[in-house]
Amino acid sequence: MKKHNLIDGQWVAGASATPNVNPSNTADVIDEYAQADRQQANAAIAAARAAFPKWAQSTIQQRADILDAIGTEILARKEELGTLLSREEGKTKPEGIGEAARAGSIFKFFAQEAVRARGELVPSVRPGIEVEITREPVGVVGMITPWNFPIAIPAWKIAPALAYGNCVVIKPADLVPGCAWALAEIISRSALPPGVFNLVMGRGSVVGDAIVTSPDVDALSFTGSVVTGRNIARAAAETMKKVQLEMGGKNPQLVLDDADLDVAVNVVLQSAFFSTGQRCTAASRVIVTEGIHDRFVAALTARMAKLTIDDALKAGTDIGPVVDPSQLKQDIDYVAIAKAEGGKLVAGGERLARTTDGYYFAPTLFTETTPTMRINREEVFGPVASVIRVRDYDEALAVANDTAFGLCAGIATRSLKHAAHFKRHAQVGMVMVNLPTAGVDYHVPFGGRKGSSYGPREQGTYAAEFYTAVKTTYVNPV
Ligand code: NAD
Repeated sequence: MKKHNLIDGQWVAGASATPNVNPSNTADVIDEYAQADRQQANAAIAAARAAFPKWAQSTIQQRADILDAIGTEILARKEELGTLLSREEGKTKPEGIGEAARAGSIFKFFAQEAVRARGELVPSVRPGIEVEITREPVGVVGMITPWNFPIAIPAWKIAPALAYGNCVVIKPADLVPGCAWALAEIISRSALPPGVFNLVMGRGSVVGDAIVTSPDVDALSFTGSVVTGRNIARAAAETMKKVQLEMGGKNPQLVLDDADLDVAVNVVLQSAFFSTGQRCTAASRVIVTEGIHDRFVAALTARMAKLTIDDALKAGTDIGPVVDPSQLKQDIDYVAIAKAEGGKLVAGGERLARTTDGYYFAPTLFTETTPTMRINREEVFGPVASVIRVRDYDEALAVANDTAFGLCAGIATRSLKHAAHFKRHAQVGMVMVNLPTAGVDYHVPFGGRKGSSYGPREQGTYAAEFYTAVKTTYVNPV
């Protein structure tokens, strides 16, 4: 069955369709997914616009019940949805199931947030006057999402948008539309009125651009690469949209002399290579002080040699394939770049053959790299990490902050002094102490600084900043 777009409560065939191919096994085509044209994107925006006045007046109980029911169904079907996720994106099945469960929990969290909506009543500086501060929905929210978290990222945008009374038009990444479609199918059977939620699958340059440039979209939440994000922010300024961008990372992971070696190795193994390194929160710059450097590299490469890289759906697989041929080429290209710049390849660096035709790539580690090398400045977005040797903590901190990005940073240490200093001075949105840089909770804010993020934070109670508009009302009770 071909998968269509959801526009104004109706399933509508796209202007064309595209196959969704399993990166673990290119002979396995999941299905054909619609590719909308600009006209269909505009129809979805018009449906959301028309549905907004009524939905904005929906009760908090109505919103809470709908979101809770969606969350319940996602959680009940987490195995099935997680399997679809690994099949289309290539992260392992346990990772896929974990991500699906996270999506369900997010809907349940925002079901509760809907009923917790509150305002403030404050005295005026003028006698007898009262001041009210209230929050209202923003309007029609356009959402553009990347391929690497195909269900969690749509969930963490859709759930707060609906909880606060907004209407939604979402365009998922065209590479992995399966999970977003499955989520839309669940939402389509909820009690949400037609037009409140719309799914338009297709190309960024067509459907994405229609959303970004439409004067009928009030706010835009984007997750993806820096280049696309920057262009989108510029274009969205034309129509004065509220904009939120979550973009790339070049996240540092410090390993200090006093670190617990096992903890440090586990943290780097997970941060750099799990989910095939295709996470905005992946650590790719491993900054190691000289006293532990050689022991750490030896222990890490020994653990890397034991990793199983295979079909994402196979039991026992630690790391699945890269998502597609162009990402595979990017990984291979960066290996060549790092070698040419003088990095020493100590593990991986090559494509792997398995029984199925997939985009398998060996987890890759470089040592003897310097902060100015491209491998330490540009996001690779694959299972590729590089070690930078430093003298001490002070140099490690300076190297960690020497980047255009600022999403997250980790430190492996048993020193309270260094951990406390790092928490305060790492120029990022999220800090991890003796924990992997990737792997965050769903009920607290997510986001970064510098080139990694723009606009209000996502997730947790902080999501209200983006998905509501603040109104200040002055009352003279005569
Ligand atoms: P991408 O920028 O290529 O695409 C992201 C989305 O933008 C896709 O849906 C794409 O179709 C759309 N798009 C592309 N061109 C567009 C245009 N001209 N107008 C409107 N939309 C357009 O990113 P990707 O390759 O899908 O994802 C990987 C990137 O996402 C990495 O850089 C990663 O770090 C980042 N990411 C960031 C976070 C975060 O929260 N910070 C989370 C996950 C991924």
